[in-house]
Parts: sequence; C-alpha cells; structure tokens
Amino acid sequence: MANGTYKNILEERNAQMIEQMRDKQEVGWSNPAYLPFDFVNGVCELVVSDADIEDAKKRLERFAPFIMKEFPETRETGGLIESPLVEIDKMQEGLKKEYTCEIPGRLFLKKDSHLAIAGSVKARGGIYEVLKHAEDLALKNGMLKEQDSYEVFADEKMKEFLSGYTVQVGSTGNLGMSIGIMSAALGFHVIVHMSADAKQWKKDLLRSKGVEVIEYEQDYSRAVEEGRKNSDADPKSYFVDDEKSVNLFLGYAVAAGRLKKQFEEQGVVVDEEHPLIVYIPAGVGGAPGGVSYGLKRLYGDLVHCFFVEPVECPSVMLGIATQKFEHANVRDYGMTGKTEADGLACASPSSFVTRIMTNLLSGGFTVNDSKLYDFLRLLYKTEEEQIEPSSCATFIGPVRLLEEEETKAYCKKHALTEKILKNATQIVWATGGRLVPDEIRKEYLEKYL
Ligand SMILES: *Cc1c(COP(=O)(O)O)cnc(C)c1O
Repeated sequence: MANGTYKNILEERNAQMIEQMRDKQEVGWSNPAYLPFDFVNGVCELVVSDADIEDAKKRLERFAPFIMKEFPETRETGGLIESPLVEIDKMQEGLKKEYTCEIPGRLFLKKDSHLAIAGSVKARGGIYEVLKHAEDLALKNGMLKEQDSYEVFADEKMKEFLSGYTVQVGSTGNLGMSIGIMSAALGFHVIVHMSADAKQWKKDLLRSKGVEVIEYEQDYSRAVEEGRKNSDADPKSYFVDDEKSVNLFLGYAVAAGRLKKQFEEQGVVVDEEHPLIVYIPAGVGGAPGGVSYGLKRLYGDLVHCFFVEPVECPSVMLGIATQKFEHANVRDYGMTGKTEADGLACASPSSFVTRIMTNLLSGGFTVNDSKLYDFLRLLYKTEEEQIEPSSCATFIGPVRLLEEEETKAYCKKHALTEKILKNATQIVWATGGRLVPDEIRKEYLEKYL
C-alpha cells in the first residue's frame, strides 16, 4: 500500500532533483505539490488570515511615531520601514548577455537590502516581532492603553520598564541585527546567539549597540537551540523563534500590501495578461515564506513565487519536496550546509513555513557560491548598486526560469507563454546589504575572480 501514498508520489517526482542536489549541481525545481490558490485558500486562512496580516500592518502603523522618533532615517517614510521598488533594465540586459538567456518582461529589484534600521529583509519580521512583544508587555502591565500614542515607547519610564525583560534570538547575522537593534532601542536586555556563519562585522556592529553577542562554533540550528534553552530558563526572557514564529511571518507578510501600493503608484499592472514572478532567497524560510504568502493572498494564481538557495544548503526546498519539513537536514543528503551566503546558511528549514507554503510555492533554484559574487559585480557594474552576497542569489531565478527543464515546464503548464511573459513583471528580492562596511564591499568586488 505504501507505494501509492501522496508522500511516495511526491518522493518519486522529486527524486531526480534530490539526486542533482547530491551531485552539487545547480537545480531548477518545480514544486509537484503546487495547487491553484482556491484549493488551499480555505485551510490557509484558518492558519494566517487576511485579518491577521491587516492587524500586523496596523500595529506597525501604531508604532510609526516611535520609530520615527528613535530612528530619524525613517522620517521620509513616516516611521514605516519600507524599501523602494526599482526597475533594473541595465542589469536585465547584462544578465541576458552574460548568461545568454531570455529574461522576458520587466525586471525589478525590491530593495529590502536598503531597509531602514537593519539593512535587510529582517527589518520586516524581526522588528515586527519585537514591537509586538513590547506592546504585549506594556498593555499587560498597565504601561500603555491602546489609544495612547506609541511615542510613549521613547520615554525613559517605558525603557526602564522594558529593561527588566530580556529578548533572545539565534541568528546567522541579519536577524540578530534587526532584533538586536530594535530591542536595544526599546530598552530590552538583548542576547543574540550567533552561529559560526555569522560575519564578524555583524557581531561588531551589534556589540557597538550594547547587544550581548554569544558566539557558537556550530551552525545556526545549534545557536537557535542554545538560545531557546537559555531563554526558557528565564521567565522574563522572550525567545524569537525563527524556526517556527508566526509573528515573524506576519511582519514579512505585510510587505505584500505595501508592494501592491507601489505597483499602483508606478503603473505596474498585475492581471491575467500581466503575471507577476517573484524570486526570493531562502534561509530558514521565514522571510521568503511570509512575503510570498502575503503575495499569494493578494494575487492568487497571478503570482508565481520561487525560492532561491545555495547549492550546499537548499533546506527549504528539501523540506517541502520530501515533506519532511523541519526534519529535513541538508547534511542527510550529502550537502555541507556551508555557504558564503551567511543569511541562507540554515541546514534545516522552518516547520511553519515549509508546511504553509507546501501548496503555494511554485518552485525554486539553487545557485553556486561563486555566482553570487559574479551577480554582485554585474549589479554594481550595470546599476551602481551593491548588495550582500546572500541577497545576490536571487538573480539565478530570472536567468534560469526558461532554461531549466522543470521551470520551463511549469511556465508552459501555467499559461506563461512567450506572449504573456513579454508582459510579465519579474521581481528579484534583494534581502540585505546596506550596512556592509566599505572595506568588506571592496573585498566582495574581488572575490572568486
Ligand atoms: C535572513 C535572510 C534571508 C532569508 O530569510 P529566512 O527567513 O532565513 O529564509 C535572505 N537573505 C538575507 C540577506 C537574509 O539575511
């Protein structure tokens, strides 16, 4: 009986992809579990509804006056942490030439690489979760009433109150930066547990902001495990759990509605004749999962979401493909989990995201580390823009979409014909980079040459 189960059918269809992954080849994968949005909407809604996302959006708006006061860099956006959407036609031409490929439609860069405060996509989820926790504590302890202006969070009295509480997180770098910086600004005692992959400059920057950084010689899962244990032992400590947090996910999901507004402002149409294709680098899956989920809720079948991961660390794709979810570990499939893309170095994926995205993710790509730097240089050369290596993984998406057997077949199956694709909007999601120090930027431009 075992042979006919859904799981076995999936396993069979994914076998070839997993073999290629074992061989450390770059893969293009179309998710065999992908379903039309209407099929999954009902169940998804029970887990994370539009109202939940709206609630998160409103919470961020309530905190805007505090954020604006504490971080003047957000004044321009009225205390909202949002990034520009820019067309990168010169990069598009550059990619087409360099990789002799077709990239139909218009190619845009969503610059979460330049988000205020944390300089990465983590400024969405990470900061949201810390704000929510601060709000919960303040409400519960009579320090805040819902109708108060949230500027009160800038008051010394509030900071003193929050200094009695601890926030902890395990991170490969950027999550720690967003949680660390915002928690410190709110007055929390904050401890960031950093995996071996974390770059030195990120640890230095955090320490300079008064954040306690604990370093591990092991990988991300271990940093999370230790952080969780440490936090559980202290009743006044709160652990931001990247491997299963719904609050992080909600913070990321708010991006979708904001993007829709940018489309309207910039005259970008999304409809049956003008599909939307989005590529986002995945680590544990939270950021790409939340953003994609938000987009699916708004655009349904009109949006096609692809995750991108390093050749040595495709944990989210494996978690979904094998339906082993958080139990999938890249090392069980012959990969090392080691990559220059520090933000993507998670050997096992999020339990929550791999489940909720199982039927919503269109597919994914893996990319070699050396290519990250080629993309980094090409972007710099064509658009005078520099983002961090993890972030550059995203460019493999538009380059390979019509070159890989599986994703080409996906396009065919979903009426993404040549004619329709000409009208497509393709978005490469840049997930980090603004805070990279100058001397490291220079190093990146020369790496793997
Ligand atoms: C964290 C991160 C990602 C991926 O986010 P996950 O939630 O771990 O999947 C991608 N790029 C950068 C630069 C990151 O810091």
